Amino acid sequence: RLESLDQPVPAVQVCVRLRPLLPWERSEGYGPSAMNLIQGDKEGNDSSISLKEDGRTRHFRFNAVISPDCTQQEAWDMSGIEAVVNKVALGFHATVFAYGQTGTGKTHTMEGYLYEHHNGSAAPSISAARPRVKARSTPPEQLGMVPRAVMALFDRVEAIRAKEALGANACVVRVSFLQIYNEKVFDLLNPSLSVSQREAGGRGEDFSGLRMRWDALKRHFFVENLFQNECNSADEALQYYQAGIANKHVASTAMNVASSRSHTVLVLTLLRREGMPGDDGTPEPFREVVSQLSLVDLAGSERTVSTVASTSGKSSTRFQEAVNVNQSLFVLRRVITALSKKDSKGNDASGHVPYRESKLTSLLQNSLGGSSYLIMFACLAATDRHDDENLSTLQYASQAASI
Ligand code: ADP
Ligand code: MG
Repeated sequence: RLESLDQPVPAVQVCVRLRPLLPWERSEGYGPSAMNLIQGDKEGNDSSISLKEDGRTRHFRFNAVISPDCTQQEAWDMSGIEAVVNKVALGFHATVFAYGQTGTGKTHTMEGYLYEHHNGSAAPSISAARPRVKARSTPPEQLGMVPRAVMALFDRVEAIRAKEALGANACVVRVSFLQIYNEKVFDLLNPSLSVSQREAGGRGEDFSGLRMRWDALKRHFFVENLFQNECNSADEALQYYQAGIANKHVASTAMNVASSRSHTVLVLTLLRREGMPGDDGTPEPFREVVSQLSLVDLAGSERTVSTVASTSGKSSTRFQEAVNVNQSLFVLRRVITALSKKDSKGNDASGHVPYRESKLTSLLQNSLGGSSYLIMFACLAATDRHDDENLSTLQYASQAASI
């Protein structure tokens, strides 16, 4: 089973996921989108979407097109995430993110049904520092890509431990979970942000955000004072995830932030220590292999800058939010475009990669570069009221991938 983990995987893969027309949309008279889907063959090859633009039809090709009636399991299977998670278990970095306009199914795709009841004001009381509440028993078919990836990663880690007779200490998984809002980084697993503390009357939350610093030795950015919780099982990691989601909603309310204007990033870090002391006690050379899987629910991609400027003015908070979201999504696309132009030796053929121009890409730098893997879910709502934005999402996705 372990041998089969190492399959060839493309560096950048883009899948489009369509959500169905929702009941309320139907009852308000919205109709199906003018998009035309051409499903690929059984291997998922040659999937494409076409959409009319100024009277002419444009075609876009992707690695997979996940149609509105697909289940979460089908989305998981078609997207190819599992092979990417296997790569992480073998020591490579990877990023999965969901891109799209607000309301197109990013959170549904990443989190899934399990966490939807946290939307709104009634967030559950969980301390993120030490999760006490067992994850709700939810039909497993409703789980989104993040919980599935967490379970798959732990599954592979256990297989590696068993095969290589590694002790628990030689193969460790850590979880961190953060939110980027207005180019500021917030820790979703910081217990001082937790619901129970707030209920106990906690005040004076720090809204200035965590500092991001450059580690000159390891040559990557890191977030200072970010909680990194070691987890022994998928269940434990998922409890942190769930607690973080609860905190996301609480923090959003406290800061008056629409979660659609922020990015959330779950980072699973796998550490493998090689050359642990031998059986006879002799110390062996010590080497630590670090690989990271970053799972990102991006801010809504709607092009609101000009609308917001005219309705709220250019000095408003809403305007600044919109500018920051647009800037970070713009930089992200340039980073991905640069990556997908890598030459066959893995060298970046397009010159400068502008990681430092946004917090998100700075943070993701080491899981977006070199020999790492990327999957992008481009989320679309298959309704006519979304078609303008659908077109812009298809353009973004196809430029990013340049398939
Ligand atoms: P976003 O995070 O992009 O703003 P959501 O994930 O919150 O969008 O989805 C918006 C609405 O559409 C939610 O009510 C969600 O339950 C529903 N939805 C999204 N994707 C699907 C899907 N594949 N099948 C059924 N309902 C979906
Ligand atoms: Mg969302």
